[in-house]
Amino acid sequence: MRRREFLSLLGGAASASPIDSVLVHEHVLVDFVGADQISPGRYDPKEVFRLAKPKIEELKQFGCRRLHDCTPNFLGRDPELLARLSDATGIQIWSNTGLYGAANHKYLPEYAKTETPAQLAKRWLAETRESWHPRFIKIGVNRGPLNELDRKLIRAAAITSRESGLTIASHTGDGAAALEQLEIVTDEKVAPVKFVWVHAQNERNHELHEKIARAGAWVEFDGIGPKTIEFHLECVNFLRAKGLARRTLISQDSGWYHVGEPGGGEFRGYTYLYSDFLSRIEPAQIPLLMWENPRAAFGM
Ligand SMILES: [Zn+2]
Repeated sequence: MRRREFLSLLGGAASASPIDSVLVHEHVLVDFVGADQISPGRYDPKEVFRLAKPKIEELKQFGCRRLHDCTPNFLGRDPELLARLSDATGIQIWSNTGLYGAANHKYLPEYAKTETPAQLAKRWLAETRESWHPRFIKIGVNRGPLNELDRKLIRAAAITSRESGLTIASHTGDGAAALEQLEIVTDEKVAPVKFVWVHAQNERNHELHEKIARAGAWVEFDGIGPKTIEFHLECVNFLRAKGLARRTLISQDSGWYHVGEPGGGEFRGYTYLYSDFLSRIEPAQIPLLMWENPRAAFGM
């Protein structure tokens, strides 16, 4: 679907402005080398800028106002590069604080293994006061039952959320891990609405999607792409049928410049959701999923 069709789908003439929207889970750059080897010198930020800028600019025609870069620290997070891309494109790009424990802790620095949740939270809270202002907490945990290190990360995230007001987006292995995290979050006196279950499409049991959404947390079906579109539609429609559209988030988990691959490897764009997915859901859902829910979950 091209822009004209997208706009007419929204009920306006093709000359009307597209609706405002937010992409809650994308990436500009990722480096999977591991926490013990990662360093800023492993890529040329000018090259990443040159490749990423046109991909982000493509979003303007669809009304995208903001993109959340979900690459955590020690996986290639580069707030300076993101700020430059944001300035150059006019699309806000939000970065994050936190640590990624998924993939069996390969991307965790050594200190994460020895420090307490309060110590980790202290580090993340210090980052929230830096000039580049992380706007959400991004962590990653493995499948449930969670091990001690994963439990520590979610507890640190909850403390950080309680102190800063920032929302936690947690890369989560499965529904069991989502439930366990939500327990820790509420145990730390943080409201469920501050917790986003990232990659909820990896859990095939819709009952768990419903359970987390009913508890008041956000269920994020990201990774929308040509290969997965049918299951993503099923997930979104399931929660809608249960009256839980107001707890649903969608995004693509797309991008990105792969550090270590020639020319950054395959940089997927960010427009598939607009060009193909939105025409398959009920039009009244679009402003909710693309604008109201992201802002309710993460702030304005
Ligand atoms: Zn991601």
